[in-house]
Amino acid sequence: MKCVRCGSEMKEVDRCCLKCGAINYKHPLNEKFAKEYALQSEIIKANPKLLKGNVKILYLLIFLLLTGIIIFLTIKFIG
Ligand SMILES: [Zn+2]
Repeated sequence: MKCVRCGSEMKEVDRCCLKCGAINYKHPLNEKFAKEYALQSEIIKANPKLLKGNVKILYLLIFLLLTGIIIFLTIKFIG
């Protein structure tokens, strides 16, 4: 088989390319890692809204923080 990164010949029993260090995902010991990595990318690809949702939560937290500061300052000045 050939290395996916540098194209040099490598054995299927090697966990990674001896020339460039690219991971051999066909190796049984690397399969689990490959699956987990692929799963994560697929989840993000399938649900780009997940990332946007996180940004919305961040904005909400900033908004709540600012509101809290305004309320705190108002109470301090009035009281
Ligand atoms: Zn290589």
